[in-house]
Amino acid sequence: MSRAPSTPAPDVRRVLIVEDERDLARVLKRHVEGIGCEVQLAGTGEEAVALGHEEFDLVLLDVMLPGIDGMEVCRRLRSLKRYMPVLMLTARSSDIDKVMGLEAGADDYLTKPFSVQELLARIKAIFRRMDAMSSAQAARERPLEVGDGIRIELGTREVRVRGQPVDLTQKEFELLLHFAQNPGRVYSRAQLLDAVWGYHHDGYEHAVNCHINRLRAKIEADPGEPKLLLTVWGVGYKFSPEPAASQ
Ligand code: CA
Repeated sequence: MSRAPSTPAPDVRRVLIVEDERDLARVLKRHVEGIGCEVQLAGTGEEAVALGHEEFDLVLLDVMLPGIDGMEVCRRLRSLKRYMPVLMLTARSSDIDKVMGLEAGADDYLTKPFSVQELLARIKAIFRRMDAMSSAQAARERPLEVGDGIRIELGTREVRVRGQPVDLTQKEFELLLHFAQNPGRVYSRAQLLDAVWGYHHDGYEHAVNCHINRLRAKIEADPGEPKLLLTVWGVGYKFSPEPAASQ
């Protein structure tokens, strides 16, 4: 089954456990299954590399393996296009091994003997990091849809208003994005200068007014009666969080 790259983490995580000691492998499998994962076992480095072409959410990788060792397996997994987190397991505890493991591309490192609690905590931490990364990625790719038909593509900086593409200058785009990412929040002109221009000098407030007016001309159905970029008298501006009720 293939998954789109921006899909959120699936409910069932697939974990590859690479361990040549059969008994230990079985114990690990049971515990990892206990936290809701689907587990596949590999007893040699070669097997692990072959299985590495499948999709796993985590690889638990023993360093001391017959044939290709864990360091080499890790390097080969890293050469694949898809990123798979690797948690290395080893009986050796020297710092050199740790450094080598991390240089080979391991995400984390656990020295045998370790407690099951420690192992499961590390696994969950890796899953949390991966989830945070994929939701950040998805947020970057997802267009922002706000107000009454405003669609902002963050990657291409393309803006559509009620289906029509509009040309915005760089500052107009950044101003709109700032408002759209913080709907309903009131900003003073000085705060907008800080946020969008990155500086604030007295007397520059008129630049904000100009940009707001130009932006309104481009995004409001009726710029004379703004429904999106609202003036908050005596304070500044806010972006209306509610789409205009017009069904
Ligand atoms: Ca081993």
